[in-house]
Amino acid sequence: MKTANPDASPAVVFRDVVKVYNGRVTALDHVSFEIPRGATVALLGPNGAGKSTAIDTMLGLRTPTSGLVRVLGMTPAHAVAAGKIGGMVQTGGLPEGAKVSELISLFRQLYRDRRSQAELLALAGLTGLADRRVDQLSGGQSQRVRFALALAGRPDLLFLDEPTAALDVEARREFWASVRAIAAQGTTVLFATHYLDEADANASRVIVVSHGRVLADGTPAQIKAYTSVRTIRFSTPAPDTSVLLGLPGVSDVLADGDAVTVRSGDADATLPALYALGQPVRGLDVGGGGLEEALLALTSDDDSSARASDLSGPARSFRPSPPSRPSHLFSEASDPSETSRPSLTTKAG
Ligand code: ADP
Ligand code: MG
Repeated sequence: MKTANPDASPAVVFRDVVKVYNGRVTALDHVSFEIPRGATVALLGPNGAGKSTAIDTMLGLRTPTSGLVRVLGMTPAHAVAAGKIGGMVQTGGLPEGAKVSELISLFRQLYRDRRSQAELLALAGLTGLADRRVDQLSGGQSQRVRFALALAGRPDLLFLDEPTAALDVEARREFWASVRAIAAQGTTVLFATHYLDEADANASRVIVVSHGRVLADGTPAQIKAYTSVRTIRFSTPAPDTSVLLGLPGVSDVLADGDAVTVRSGDADATLPALYALGQPVRGLDVGGGGLEEALLALTSDDDSSARASDLSGPARSFRPSPPSRPSHLFSEASDPSETSRPSLTTKAG
């Protein structure tokens, strides 16, 4: 044993982790977070954000360029060797020719502490498919087999890298029900997704990543509340965009004839001020506020910061927040020339 009491250590420690591929591509750019035991956490971000690199690093499949990675208080290699972690990675298929039951049985032999064959089949919803050859399964059924294999060694920590990509809605629903059953048994689950609704529905905490950096880290509600962007639509005769841009909370105004679209970080303040202008406001519609808007706002803000940093060096760093205020991760840095898109932090503060 490497530490005095590994059971007391977090499920995952990621400290200042950098991964550079081929000396050129920075996939992880000083990423830090900790995941406590028993949590179900989503790593949410667009393609190329670094999600798979992060998960592969925790599974010991990749070595970080610098920084510290610990899983269950051990190095990833130790945790794998101890049979303590399981994963569904994005790459790799299933061996052809074998039956579902044979494959699961084979994987079970790899672990001293293993789930029973019947339990694995039931957990993954494969009981009726035990005799089916794995090359004759649908996409959703194949994913369930890979899920069963990941669970064979009764892992304390389960990594799922975009496990429901390419599954239809019904298959996704069934899959997440199985994951929640595993989580309810105390298993720590870290999953990568770019499905915002999946993170919202299945994770108690969401770590938003983009361009290899952590943009936000909090509960789904905190992330939604933090950006709190609303899209306010209405029509008014001859809208004055500069007046509308001056209303509290407003970050963007788009006028197309009488039709106005306003983005606001504080709709509660914007709306009374809008009516106080004394102009007719017709057909008012307030939308947004979902995780989708939050992610768009977070990642587009990140893009503008990247452009700013091209000119002025590293513009800002993202640090893991203390648990008491996990969602306030933005610095004020933004390109001052982007007057039509002031940073969300400035507007909210
Ligand atoms: P995600 O899983 O969020 O889509 P990845 O971790 O797969 O992101 O990729 C992060 C970045 O690293 C991307 O720019 C990707 O092109 C690059 N990358 C991933 N794997 C490799 C590799 N083996 N060699 C070089 N670049 C890679
Ligand atoms: Mg990936």
